[in-house]
Amino acid sequence: MRGVLLGYRGTGKSSVGRHLAGLLGVPFIDTARRIEARAGRPVAAIFRNEGEARFREYEREAIVSLPAGDAVIATGGGAVCDAVNVRHLRAGSFCILLTASVEAICRRIAGSGRPPLTALPPEDEVRAMIGKRRQAYRAAADCCVDTTDLAPAEAAATIARILAEGTVRPAEAETGLAALRVTGAAGESLAGIEQLQRRPTRLYGILGFPSRHSKSPGMYNQLFARYGIDGFYAGFESPDPAAVIGALERLDYRGLSVTIPHKTAVIPLLDRLDEDAAAIGAVNTIVRCGGETTGSNTDWLGVRRPVEDLAGGSAVLLGAGGAAAAAAYALVDLDMDVLVLARTKEKAEALATRFHCRAGALHEGERLDADLVVHATPVGMEPDASSLLAAAQLPEGCTVFDLVYTPPETPLLREARRAGCRTIPGTEMFVHQACEQFALFTGIRIPPQEIREMIA
Ligand code: NAP
Repeated sequence: MRGVLLGYRGTGKSSVGRHLAGLLGVPFIDTARRIEARAGRPVAAIFRNEGEARFREYEREAIVSLPAGDAVIATGGGAVCDAVNVRHLRAGSFCILLTASVEAICRRIAGSGRPPLTALPPEDEVRAMIGKRRQAYRAAADCCVDTTDLAPAEAAATIARILAEGTVRPAEAETGLAALRVTGAAGESLAGIEQLQRRPTRLYGILGFPSRHSKSPGMYNQLFARYGIDGFYAGFESPDPAAVIGALERLDYRGLSVTIPHKTAVIPLLDRLDEDAAAIGAVNTIVRCGGETTGSNTDWLGVRRPVEDLAGGSAVLLGAGGAAAAAAYALVDLDMDVLVLARTKEKAEALATRFHCRAGALHEGERLDADLVVHATPVGMEPDASSLLAAAQLPEGCTVFDLVYTPPETPLLREARRAGCRTIPGTEMFVHQACEQFALFTGIRIPPQEIREMIA
């Protein structure tokens, strides 16, 4: 068993880690001691004399060269902010985030001799740093243990039980499984979920209606295997997101992809929303850690990433539904001058008002004028073989990004090619949003090409 302890300074990683290693009968490795051995001086002296940037280099060297095999590993508080560290720490390990109240942390780190990271008073610094690293901690952890009121030996015993039995006690798992069976949502995934409830393996999945034909379970389970993550990704198909999420909470699920038609309906079911999801008004990613759920949106990054080279230019956005909202947010974030065109003028105007862009109606045969055309209606989606625009309507030399991805070569993309435009297929939105979602689920950043090859 290889357990990795993550968390801010003063949450007990070293003291709990030593006890845990004793309980499990495995070596204890403190990355701070490995850094000191490499640098030939204490961590506090590295910070003081060489600065934080140099400390982070030592830290990365210490983490990528960790010996393989059973161990308990205690990491530095900022180690999770580096995706390379996270990839190495997570491979073949179960990662436990230790948390504690700000007061407990300040009490424990008082007099450590480490120079402050900011000019703030100690409690404010701890609060600010934890806030800044919150997403990274929650992404990299498989589970979370609050050590505020626990002695190191008690925290170690709690973690040893989780490593042996999983994060859900057997009676809770039975109740959760019974509730999940009632929803009928797990379908073919149910057998896999039943098997994993007594092991630490963490549960992820996709929730939609329909979602049975989603490529996500195959893709995520391959990624978990490739990166040594102890996770299982299931498919959940139901018209009732509250019932499914309620059952999954009892099974201590770790993360969910959310798809049509639940991206807005799940919002009231969550503890918090990140800034982007709140602005777009839709959630496609739920991350759950320590019993708290956060809703995020990675769809907008799926639109943003492939067109970042057009930042500051002009764009026409076709459609005014959910995908168009994510696209408008992305294009405005790229400082583009955006014109929203939709068949229902009021809807185009409402979307344009929300994201501070211009609106208009879509007139038949009209020639557009922009650097980028983003298509966000279902026109051209199988089995529909029509295109909203003909080649003659497309501006010369523009880029056409069709968010529709079934078929991969849509009628609009064929028209765009005829007009000599650069084309971006809808699969690129899926690829980039999936890279971002995997990072929120695991803290690991993967190259888009890996996803392209998996869904090809
Ligand atoms: P939505 O919320 O239902 O919005 C659809 C929009 O298209 C609405 O503005 C609607 O106008 C308009 N529309 C529908 N039929 C039309 C027609 N025949 N002519 C002109 N406009 C029409 O749907 P959505 O969630 O935004 O999805 C839109 C498309 O994006 C889907 O085809 C989906 O495949 C694609 N998508 C792709 C990805 C990806 O990863 N690539 C992700 C999400 C969505 P009214 O309001 O007037 O009906």
